[in-house]
Amino acid sequence: MQILAVNAGSSSLKFQMYEMPAEKVIISGVFERIGIGSSFYTIKLNGNKVKKEKEFGNHDEAVAVLIQELFDNNVVKSLDEIVGIGHRVVHGASKYADSVVITDEVLSDIEDFISLAPLHNPANIMGIKAFKKLVPDAIQVAVFDTAFHQTMSEESYLYPVPYSWYEQYGVRKYGFHGTSHKYLTIRMSQILNKKEFKLITCHLGNGGSISAVKDGQCIDTSMGFTPNAGIMMGTRSGDIDATIIPYVMEKTNKSLDDIINDLNKNSGYLGISSISSDSRDIENGIADGNEKCILAQKMYIKKIVEYIAKYYVLLGGADAICFSAGIGENSFKTRKDIIDSLACLGIKLDEEANQVRGEEKLITTLDSVIPCYIVPTDEELMIARDTLKFVK
Ligand code: ADP
Repeated sequence: MQILAVNAGSSSLKFQMYEMPAEKVIISGVFERIGIGSSFYTIKLNGNKVKKEKEFGNHDEAVAVLIQELFDNNVVKSLDEIVGIGHRVVHGASKYADSVVITDEVLSDIEDFISLAPLHNPANIMGIKAFKKLVPDAIQVAVFDTAFHQTMSEESYLYPVPYSWYEQYGVRKYGFHGTSHKYLTIRMSQILNKKEFKLITCHLGNGGSISAVKDGQCIDTSMGFTPNAGIMMGTRSGDIDATIIPYVMEKTNKSLDDIINDLNKNSGYLGISSISSDSRDIENGIADGNEKCILAQKMYIKKIVEYIAKYYVLLGGADAICFSAGIGENSFKTRKDIIDSLACLGIKLDEEANQVRGEEKLITTLDSVIPCYIVPTDEELMIARDTLKFVK
């Protein structure tokens, strides 16, 4: 049977179609730079990779092209062949600790959680609605980013604010990218051939988060109540002093919505560089000597290194660190900048090994105290596995 796994991100939409339960990828692809100009997509089929340039103003347009590609490439003759579609959904709040079939009630809940994930839940919903329209007979499943982090203890997930905020309004750290951190944990357990180990997982994409994982369970993570916490990101600020918000509102006469929009969409790499949210553009700017790009990269690295250091102490050491997602898998420079900043922990980069993109690889020298790996994440496989549970 064929199952489609969909990961609609803030500026990207990834998909993989699997023959299940064999877990064989039939066709896959990624739509990049959606809504930020110069967008393009790549389709992989039978070992061939085709890149096509096309402007996508939103996710709806990307999904329509995706469906057309399935027909054009003779992957399906009828859409009835797709029995299940699994969707990555960023925020499930405390209501969803597991994956679930998407009913009208579930969809309405995901809409209710938009205020918790303003950059992502709307993209997830657009994907779900478009697929519901175009493939009405398939079972649609939501796989929540928040699930893997449910193992955090109270002292990790609570904020030092009035306790009633948690009791009455659910103000707590939820954590995100859980499907990816879980995949990285499973894969690193296989690579290290250990069940009991201390791991720091770095998911560095347009959005980014870092987790501390002990014996396969998440004990802390950098994202919080919303995905706008933790490290600096493409357009998101990450952690800031909350009192900045009323101060800037008063100075600028901006509304709360405007400020939240600025923190989610006009901050991070974009806010500091004024050029782009994309690390490739930042790296090009650095090569051209652009001071703001140089500063943006320094700040990005500093925030990541601070979290790694924090989790190193929390875990009481680390058996491994792994890098994943768009930047973690592809940017030699960011990995090098991070690892060089961790030299005091005895971590040593293997410069030659680091010159790869999107490949599972050890990138530190054999005498490095902590081995560091690139592990391409596979959220789509995790989504397909969960979807399969419901279509059987
Ligand atoms: P998200 O799913 O959060 O939208 P991704 O995991 O797709 O994000 O990552 C997107 C990021 O990956 C972009 O900021 C992009 O710059 C970065 N990226 C992709 N390829 C490269 C590359 N070759 N070098 C540097 N960064 C890259």
